[in-house]
Amino acid sequence: MLIGIIGGGESGVGAALLALKVGDVPFVSDYGQINPVYRQNLIENSVRFEEGGHNFDILVTSDLIVKSPGVKDNTPIVLTLKAQGLTVISELEYGARYCNGKIIAITGSNGKTTTTNLTHHILMTAGLDVVKGGNLGTCLCSLLLEESHDIYVLEVSSFQLEGIVRFRPDISILINVTPDHLDRYAYNFDLYADSKMRISMNQMPDDYFIYGSDSDIINSKLSLVNAIQIPVSVEDLGIDGISVRNPFLRGRHNKVNAGCAIEAVQLLDVSDDHIKKALSTFKNDDHRLQTVAKINDVEWINDSKATNVDAVFYALDAIEDPIVWIVGGVDKGNDYSQLLELVHSKVKLMICLGVDNQKLIDAFGSMSLEMYQTQTMEEAIDIADDHVVGGDVVLLSPACASFDLFKNYKDRGNQFVSGVWKLLRKRR
Ligand code: ADP
Repeated sequence: MLIGIIGGGESGVGAALLALKVGDVPFVSDYGQINPVYRQNLIENSVRFEEGGHNFDILVTSDLIVKSPGVKDNTPIVLTLKAQGLTVISELEYGARYCNGKIIAITGSNGKTTTTNLTHHILMTAGLDVVKGGNLGTCLCSLLLEESHDIYVLEVSSFQLEGIVRFRPDISILINVTPDHLDRYAYNFDLYADSKMRISMNQMPDDYFIYGSDSDIINSKLSLVNAIQIPVSVEDLGIDGISVRNPFLRGRHNKVNAGCAIEAVQLLDVSDDHIKKALSTFKNDDHRLQTVAKINDVEWINDSKATNVDAVFYALDAIEDPIVWIVGGVDKGNDYSQLLELVHSKVKLMICLGVDNQKLIDAFGSMSLEMYQTQTMEEAIDIADDHVVGGDVVLLSPACASFDLFKNYKDRGNQFVSGVWKLLRKRR
């Protein structure tokens, strides 16, 4: 089969190499420039590709189109190919057709990476043959280039779910659905929720659907689910006597993440002893409520990955001490009203770090709260440092995307971390 692949990034190249492996003929087409590392990979494997535009005449001869998650459904080339009757699927769908292991697929607006990492860590601790990937790193197609594994733990985004046809995970996890990426869903929350529910659309009565049951919108759509339903609520803390005291799993939201992971691994017969051991040895990725340092009894926390309001809600909720809050960036249509009460009771100073802070000023300006504006991380840290006293917490939890002042959320978090370390050296 000739596989036309739109997008030459991680998933496009992964799909192309898997296509070669299974005997299909890939053609990669990228509207922009392909990253040199990926380009080299394509050349070394003799994959035909183009960049800087799409050649419709070649693409239309494909038997199947695989679309990268970054390419929107309403992109002209996608619309044109669909109009010609071509089936457009996601890299996840393509990979899953060749995956013989059990699939645990994890989605949600927030907590995907944490829950994927934790589920994988518990299964590893229990000695199972497991690998993780998807949205958080190596895409499924690339994982399938290696030897096969018994279990695949996959972080899955709503963009990938839009392009599934037969994708049927053995266990699906939907942690939560809260407003995010609404620009891709015509600002319609229900449409966005539907795209998340697709994780279970092909599941059968012998599959499992684990879900955050504190979400009204998920609860309202449960009639769509054929799989065995397993609810996880924040009220279930200490599930089966297993408590979570790991600093990497701080906050009520992480109890839900852990609850989902525990339910999943119990379905694979992992013992409570293994679960307890794994919960105590787990380390999460950086930029998620990550304690960077304690300087003169002030804790500095990097939560740069909090790019929407709900993530910030749980960050503020998780912290007991007075907070100097560094917030701002590219607003994705945020509604800050959910935060008003927490900000009122916990935040002593707000530092707006963005090119346009007007929305934050409008939302929080009427509170008797000291507010500063800056456009550099260095200055944000200086302002915070000038105002803290022992017992305070400085929290970078932006509620916004980072692209106005930083390359991405990692760059923003790394700049925060190096600024804090600089401060630490100064104080020594
Ligand atoms: P994702 O992969 O979905 O972006 P992460 O695990 O990387 O999720 O966490 C992203 C942000 O969301 C972090 O700020 C984290 O503290 C916060 N977060 C994690 N889990 C949850 C949850 N269940 N509910 C709300 N916020 C969460």
